[in-house]
Amino acid sequence: MAILSLQFCHQTTVMDYDDSEHLYANVGSGGKLLFCDYSSEDSSDERSIDSMDNGSLNNPAMSPVEIVPIGQVTPQRKNEKSGYLFKQGGVKANKGWRKRWVVFTGNSLRYYDSRKSQVSKRIVPLSCMEKVETLVKDSDKDKFKFNLHTTNRVFQFAADSLQECTLWCSTLMECILKYKAPPGGEPEGLDMNEPDKQGYIKFERRNNYFVAVKQGKMCYYHSEQDFKQGSPINEIDMKLANVKEIGKGKLQLSTHYSHFLLIPESYSECVLWKMAFEESIADALGDNTILDQVMGNPSNRVCADCSAEDPHWASINIGIVLCKKCADLHSGMILPAGIHRNFEHSISRVKSLRMDTKIWTPSLIEMMKAIGNGNANDFWQHELPPDKRINTDTSAAQRMALIENKYKAKLYCDRSGISDNQKVLNEKLLEFSVRGDLLQTMKVTFLGANMYYTNSEGENAYRIAKRMGQRLTMEFLFQNGGERSSSSFNDSDEGQVSRLRAEVCLDGYLQKTGSNKKDFRKRWCVIEHGCLRYFLSQTSSGAKDSVDNDIMMCVQAVSTYDKSLSNVRNLNKRYPEAFELSTCKKDNREYLFAASTPQERKSWMVALAKLFCPVSLMADIGQCEFNLAGNFYIKDVLSSWEKTWLMINNRILEYFDKNKQEFCKVDLRKALNIKYSESTLACTTCLEVGKCLALDVYGKSLYIQADLARDTERLLNVCSKAMKTGGDTLEDQNLSPSNVPVIIEKCVCFIEDYGIQEEGIYRLSGVKSKVQALLDRFMADAHSVVLQQGVNQVHEVAACLKLFFRSLKDPLLMSTKHQLWIDNADDIMYGRMDPQVKLEWYQFLIRELPPVNYSTLKRLIHHFNRLARYSAQNKMTEKNIAIAFGPTLMQTESESEVNSLHVQLQMVVIGDIMKHHQKLFKLGEDEKLMQEKVDEGKKILDGIITTKENVDVNDSLKISVFFLSRSGNCYNPEVNIHTTVKQVIDQLKYRFNATHEEYSLHEVLCDGALERPLHDTDHPHAVVKAWWDWPDCYRKQACLCLKPTPDLMLKLSNMYDPSRALFSEIRLIEKKQTGLLISKSNKYAFQFQQSRLSYFKDAKSAGGSPIGSWNIEDLVIYYGMDPIIRKGDKYGVTFLKVGETPGSKETPVFGHTLCFSSENDSLSWMAGLLAAQHPEGLLP
Ligand SMILES: [Zn+2]
Repeated sequence: MAILSLQFCHQTTVMDYDDSEHLYANVGSGGKLLFCDYSSEDSSDERSIDSMDNGSLNNPAMSPVEIVPIGQVTPQRKNEKSGYLFKQGGVKANKGWRKRWVVFTGNSLRYYDSRKSQVSKRIVPLSCMEKVETLVKDSDKDKFKFNLHTTNRVFQFAADSLQECTLWCSTLMECILKYKAPPGGEPEGLDMNEPDKQGYIKFERRNNYFVAVKQGKMCYYHSEQDFKQGSPINEIDMKLANVKEIGKGKLQLSTHYSHFLLIPESYSECVLWKMAFEESIADALGDNTILDQVMGNPSNRVCADCSAEDPHWASINIGIVLCKKCADLHSGMILPAGIHRNFEHSISRVKSLRMDTKIWTPSLIEMMKAIGNGNANDFWQHELPPDKRINTDTSAAQRMALIENKYKAKLYCDRSGISDNQKVLNEKLLEFSVRGDLLQTMKVTFLGANMYYTNSEGENAYRIAKRMGQRLTMEFLFQNGGERSSSSFNDSDEGQVSRLRAEVCLDGYLQKTGSNKKDFRKRWCVIEHGCLRYFLSQTSSGAKDSVDNDIMMCVQAVSTYDKSLSNVRNLNKRYPEAFELSTCKKDNREYLFAASTPQERKSWMVALAKLFCPVSLMADIGQCEFNLAGNFYIKDVLSSWEKTWLMINNRILEYFDKNKQEFCKVDLRKALNIKYSESTLACTTCLEVGKCLALDVYGKSLYIQADLARDTERLLNVCSKAMKTGGDTLEDQNLSPSNVPVIIEKCVCFIEDYGIQEEGIYRLSGVKSKVQALLDRFMADAHSVVLQQGVNQVHEVAACLKLFFRSLKDPLLMSTKHQLWIDNADDIMYGRMDPQVKLEWYQFLIRELPPVNYSTLKRLIHHFNRLARYSAQNKMTEKNIAIAFGPTLMQTESESEVNSLHVQLQMVVIGDIMKHHQKLFKLGEDEKLMQEKVDEGKKILDGIITTKENVDVNDSLKISVFFLSRSGNCYNPEVNIHTTVKQVIDQLKYRFNATHEEYSLHEVLCDGALERPLHDTDHPHAVVKAWWDWPDCYRKQACLCLKPTPDLMLKLSNMYDPSRALFSEIRLIEKKQTGLLISKSNKYAFQFQQSRLSYFKDAKSAGGSPIGSWNIEDLVIYYGMDPIIRKGDKYGVTFLKVGETPGSKETPVFGHTLCFSSENDSLSWMAGLLAAQHPEGLLP
């Protein structure tokens, strides 16, 4: 058998097979296929199609094919089919086989690149299909071909099984046979018949395609011929589409799955296509909101030019409503070159009233109502003779003639009372904009008044109308290009920016107080044209006040219930959804508004923010949530001040980093401290002189300041509140860098340092009132709590930790997951669960935890394992830990559940997690290494301490080391006289999770005013011991801080120049032998040479015998100066002789201070002196 050919065509008849295998069997056996014309009454009309070997109809070996009546056919199976087929590419079917996803819907066949593609390669309507023929050869193994014939083309497909091939053929053929053309034949283009617009358009990077758009659908075709046949390449549901003009004469039609770049033949075609697409989209969406509003003026219900009913286009600069036909002609009117104002080239700017785009601002809609076809025609066709009027049936040419005469030649205008004198006209325009006389403004504008004409203050009509709060006049002038000044004729940035800002609009009623913030009153508020205005009511025309975007400083959400807002205490009503707009208007007025819902407040705040944020961020701001936003000055330690956009959303502070061109986030839950910084650091370009804020975050310090001191304070309050809020969930706590609540981190570390070997730890309870007091302190501000041995008892700290877990609204392992944990524990306990499955379950449940719960559990389990390692001493075996913590971490609602079985199950869970913690938390090599290092570091220190041969145990000492500053986290490593700074850093940087950069240890005195970076080889023991002899005022403020090296050390090593001689006149301040201060202008010539620091009466006497001199080895040198002596000079280097005590109570001045007026001088002296002490290098 060579070729099996099955021919199906209109004349042939087909029958139904109940299943394809049946058919396959018959074909395979080489028999005949029987076809029955079910549409024919005559069932005897049976024919046979011979197979190639000419088998006989009477072949007894062949089973008869069952004939199924048509009524039993399931439509789904017979009328629809989809699947992958191969298709011969190219119109001539000669470009090779390609795999295509083919869908037959019963009405048409479409094919796509893949199943996921939404863009078809071709749509073949059923009406042009003629027949299907199979071309299956006997030798076919993997491709079973069939051809689909249409009236003008043959499509060649191939299936990969005979069965599929036959199914496709039968499905298609059945529909072809059933198809009946309507009387008179199918219309040209089928359902795209008589489209709203048609024609060829060039598709970028593709061909010229024939495009048709009708109602809510757009199709493109290879040719007009294909259009007539109704066989497009693809069709687009315009409901999903969006069209915009990109560059000159290019349109982008986008859907959520693809973009098409269309280049119509000419610019005017482009405008018309855009309108057609917009109309189509509007049609598909069926949104009449704007249309209905504009129809509020009854004269707008018929076309302004031809009186056609139901117009839904508008000329937004003329202020009239038009039918589609007239609208097309309007957009075709172009100003002659040279005359147009470089604004838009059309005399009439046409937009659809059914497109709810950004252009339809409240003022524009109001303006359309206020002008309207009635008033407009009173002006435009005042002199129009009745016989020249047009109607719906007027020919296009006549229509065009009227429209051009009316608007371009201005033949029929009402010129009564209007002067021809340009200067008079211009003055009139200004006068009308002051008064807000819209119709007169319109008249003089169209009769030639120059809208760039300015008054003596340089304000043009638009600016005046804006300032006077004449919305509709302002809107009219804006639509006619009046917002530009004559100096920005071309599309300058200024114009673009002003356009973008003008697009931000919002209106509605808000509650608002006066400047005394006493009583709320309802006001109609409007944001448009880059400013905020409010009116007595929606119908008032004159604004009560207008706030321009260039004076807006920041916007903040507030609640008038908040007692801390002292200035809103006298309010007549309270609103939780209030917001405050800070401006630099007269007296730096603050505006207090109140919305009625959170959504409403959000949209007002976002719209306001968009008015004064950097233009490049306007789109981003629309997506943002924030409770404070504004322009602030920001810098870090190394950079300089830069004004940028800052937002706070709950506990996240975000600012736009102009260098990185991205938003930087600061999690305020992890911030250590925020306070006013020294005024010497303040930004000098702010509007008001003021102090800046210093915000400490792990590894980073940020300085922030607002233009107004009041807004700096505002930021301070918002940040402090966000930092300290400790709610009753884990998420709400102050967090460590590794996402563990600070309270947990501090308690756990304290216990690991001092209580790990304590018998009964976590089982003995502390004094209840003390435990509660400690917890309260943590909840008020966790970062500020410093746990100290001797002050805090380990049992109290342990009880505080447990109490914290119990006071959480939701337990660590979450109540919603409680049953799952318990059910699994039950199965595990009774051995019903495979160990591998068990692990997977735990992994699953742990993965489901929110991030803070996850990291907390991880930290806690690590702690438990360390506890268990010392169980010989503390008696906390795995089991005891589970008993102590099970109910705390998995607390349940009902008391009754706390029975022994439950506790047993909880023990199983905690025990298992402890056992498998490395797998469960996927501890990477890094983390394991880090934990080992912490343990190792501790062991080394333990070793040093307990090695009696070397050290007297009594000489070991617990020191407090703070992270970054005194308000940071604190740990208390034990050191002895041999412990080096490096050892302490190595141990602690893992504790502080500060492994990402280089750190150094600093001796910090006088609340940070004096600072000494310790060298790696220094001994902290000696440093701390020295403080013991100091007067209280110095000793109490002394501390050791671990800081990122770049801060001071980097500055110092940058300034160190070994070739530079240190010799200059410097003011010296020191306490006198008699106990009195030497101060004021005691300048001496200082010289640092050959490890000696000496000073002379003046430069001339240098070389002789100095007044005083020190050996550098004997000095302890600090950067900075005692605040008590800081007067004129800002920078200092202060030193003590080794063993020397800083000033006493009577003479409170710390050591000997060299005062400098420039930072660089102070740094180079400091660097020079330090380098002499550590010739091996400043930086470790
Ligand atoms: Zn019309």
